[in-house]
Amino acid sequence: MSEKIFAMTNVVTPNQPVIFDPDYCTGCNNCVETCQVDVYIPNPEAGMPPIILHPDECWYCGCCVNDCPSEGAIRFNWPLQSRAYWKNKKTGEIGQV
Ligand code: SF4
Ligand code: SF4
Repeated sequence: MSEKIFAMTNVVTPNQPVIFDPDYCTGCNNCVETCQVDVYIPNPEAGMPPIILHPDECWYCGCCVNDCPSEGAIRFNWPLQSRAYWKNKKTGEIGQV
């Protein structure tokens, strides 16, 4: 008897293009309205961060982050290949943009 295997769809990477901080997000949904490719939908619970429905559609235009009125409520979760690192020659400290 042959072994059973299962085919699965590709895991989208990254699967969370932005990270919300519910402590700062007011649920105003500006980011939902701004996104041109409908990555988000409003959260059914008022005052909570939107739901990321189509993360693989994000092309990192930045509009949602730029249009957020609450500082600290939303930040990018850049793909690994888009992250820049630097090293301070004097201190050796590693930083990330
Ligand atoms: S970065 Fe652009 S495409 Fe991605 S979720 Fe924000 S507004 Fe939409
Ligand atoms: S625009 Fe900012 S405060 Fe408004 S829902 Fe989006 S992340 Fe939250």
